[in-house]
Amino acid sequence: MKYISTRDKSLKLSSAEAIKRGLSEDGGLFVPEEIPKLTKAEITSLVDKSYIERANFVLSKYLTDFTKTEIEKCTTGAYGGGKFSSDKVAPVVKINDSEYILELWHGPTCAFKDMALQILPHFMTASMKKTGEDKTIVILVATSGDTGKAALEGFKDVDGTKIIVFYPSEGVSDIQKLQMITQDGKNVCVEGIKGNFDDAQNGVKKIFTDSALGAELEKNGYAFSSANSINWGRLVPQIVYYISAYCDMIEGGEIKNGDKINICVPTGNFGNILAAYYAKKMGLPINKLICASNKNDVLTDFIRTGEYNKNRDFYQTVSPSMDILISSNLERLLFDISGNDDKKINKMMSDLSKNGQYKLTKTLHNKITKLFWGGCCDDYFTKEQIWKTFVEDEYTLDTHTAVAVDVYKQYISETGDMTKTIIASTASPFKFNGSVLSALGIETYGKSEFELLDLLREKSDMDIPKSLVELRDKSVRFNEIINDDDMVDSIKNTLDIK
Ligand SMILES: *Cc1c(COP(=O)(O)O)cnc(C)c1O
Repeated sequence: MKYISTRDKSLKLSSAEAIKRGLSEDGGLFVPEEIPKLTKAEITSLVDKSYIERANFVLSKYLTDFTKTEIEKCTTGAYGGGKFSSDKVAPVVKINDSEYILELWHGPTCAFKDMALQILPHFMTASMKKTGEDKTIVILVATSGDTGKAALEGFKDVDGTKIIVFYPSEGVSDIQKLQMITQDGKNVCVEGIKGNFDDAQNGVKKIFTDSALGAELEKNGYAFSSANSINWGRLVPQIVYYISAYCDMIEGGEIKNGDKINICVPTGNFGNILAAYYAKKMGLPINKLICASNKNDVLTDFIRTGEYNKNRDFYQTVSPSMDILISSNLERLLFDISGNDDKKINKMMSDLSKNGQYKLTKTLHNKITKLFWGGCCDDYFTKEQIWKTFVEDEYTLDTHTAVAVDVYKQYISETGDMTKTIIASTASPFKFNGSVLSALGIETYGKSEFELLDLLREKSDMDIPKSLVELRDKSVRFNEIINDDDMVDSIKNTLDIK
């Protein structure tokens, strides 16, 4: 199977090449030329299999230039060896007759980013070998919290790679900051930026397109790559867990093979829900894809009106990983539903960068509303939902998953559709303990992060994730905070380029 760019479908690459490059030079994203099919009989054959076996099966349909052994090495390296705190890797928990929570946060950093960022480094090193790459790959990340830590954990001590993470010094939670500045590994570097996430992100974008710097790196045996969700190697492992969750529901007697389910996803960059769309397109029986946003509701408006418009206020919310105005992965969906029309995508994306908006044709918008339902909720309702679910279903949600549950309830009251629904749970509640505790009516003022972890353990009756407990005894390795103008110098310093 070949991969093409959403902005130039004549460009055809192997999956290894697409993963190594991350983003296409024309600015487009790599997608498979055609979505492979999953039959009912194949789903049956996966029901009694482990997560790793299911992953091997699904990934081999997409990464056709990888051998069976290469894929197995990637999946066992990522999901085996006790790295995930659940044997099932991504377990499904039934909380009432129609709601099933797919817990995607049992990995080493307690957020769903681990599902992809644990396997991406394995894909990357395999891809480098297969394409004869001899340079050291330098992964540059600008993070608002979860991605940075998950990428550091994934890439630490991976041969042939270095990773440099920039975070806004005042823009991440205390736990997230502690997780990053105590990171171990020989090939890692973490820098705080004076400024907000946009400053860090713009700095990284500038560096990626700085051709003089690129040439200088090449001379020294380095090449930049990206671990953002625009990389196909981050998207494809996310398709696996929707198929796996469906198999778990068959195995647990909750559905029969062929029954339809809904999938509801708390959405930011549109990566996670796009993976569910690909699973549906492959043949997984999915009825509606429910796209949940927080107060940054650009996607809700887009799904409802067919017009994408990022010219609006930006809000900082209690679900910060969804605070986003440009959902990059939407480009892949638009390419697919327009029948791989790269010209149309070029037009829409240039409208977006020039005017901050674009509009779908009526035909395309109809396709979107058949597939998706969009809704949003603000911080007040997010917290209220944490409280309600705790009382009614005895389950503790994090702030992101709570947005999804709230939007799901809105979906039911608007449509009356009681189809069983998988709700993607994207973070452990312990990672956002302050907001979760205050939603549960517990005073958090003046308490340290570690006192908060203990309070939440008592209240929720859940174990504190091991990696968060261990933060207590870790020493700080990276306490430098720099100006965004100094990012290039800092990179050169780290890579020892004079
Ligand atoms: C990244 C993230 C999201 C958003 O996922 P997208 O794939 O960007 O839509 C939601 N919740 C949490 C906790 C995240 O870390």
